[in-house]
Amino acid sequence: MFKESCVVCFREISDPVCPDCYIQQVKMWVKHNGANEKVQEDFVEHLRRRFNFDTLNEEKCVLCFQGDVSVCYYCFFRRSTRLLENFSFPKETINNFRGVFNYHIMMDTLRLLKAQ
Ligand SMILES: [Zn+2]
Ligand SMILES: [Zn+2]
Repeated sequence: MFKESCVVCFREISDPVCPDCYIQQVKMWVKHNGANEKVQEDFVEHLRRRFNFDTLNEEKCVLCFQGDVSVCYYCFFRRSTRLLENFSFPKETINNFRGVFNYHIMMDTLRLLKAQ
């Protein structure tokens, strides 16, 4: 049973994925959404800094087997959305982000990646 807790909300993490693997997904999304390269890099850099947590969790990420699992999907998603707003991405783009990173779709994608 996976019992690590999120460093942000302290709830149990049900999907043991590290922030780096989540960030990879967001990075691909930003690339396809019209932001220029400078904005893309800045955004991903900010995202990295925002999720650079120390954690006592011992569980490793199920995707890369290296990263520490520190934050739950909901917290990652919430903070990323807020960061998009801070970067003044257009509202439509942010809505698209919300759709693409819908929790269930995201988890299916991650499971597919894992199965490869
Ligand atoms: Zn959380
Ligand atoms: Zn990972």
